[in-house]
Amino acid sequence: VERTLALIKPDAVHKSDEIEEIILQHGFTILQKRRMHMTPEQTSDFYAEHYGKMFFPSLVAYMSSGPTLAIVLAKQSAITYWRQLIGPTNTQKARDQAPESLRAIYGTDSTKNSLHGSDSYSSAEREIHFFFPDSIVE
Ligand code: ATP
Repeated sequence: VERTLALIKPDAVHKSDEIEEIILQHGFTILQKRRMHMTPEQTSDFYAEHYGKMFFPSLVAYMSSGPTLAIVLAKQSAITYWRQLIGPTNTQKARDQAPESLRAIYGTDSTKNSLHGSDSYSSAEREIHFFFPDSIVE
């Protein structure tokens, strides 16, 4: 069983009950959950790899605009499965190529894409630790 970090970003938090239903329907176990209004500093830290990119300021403004729901999901191949379920980063691309995906349903544009999923084992571990620093590392 693998763990991944899912974020329900500020633009989709008002739909979090509905999204959690879908998560459970797909057979994920919700291990931990935390609501957190990220500061611009925390957002910059979380997305440090994108520092200096054109979209970085709007990404920071978006992610610190309201509370985010961080959820640790567990399932076999959770990382790949969750990224498949949320779909492409860009909402329009998600609508064109994966209309059933969660970003196609809940996203607004290329920045406001409503959801996040860790992209590898090492980012999952780093990101889980970011939101749940006290959680036990297996
Ligand atoms: P990852 O790249 O780690 O697989 P991801 O699909 O969420 O994850 P990233 O490329 O990491 O996308 O970008 C992080 C976030 O920054 C995106 O989820 C989106 O909100 C925003 N973003 C990414 N690329 C762009 C872009 N070209 N224009 C505007 N916003 C963007």
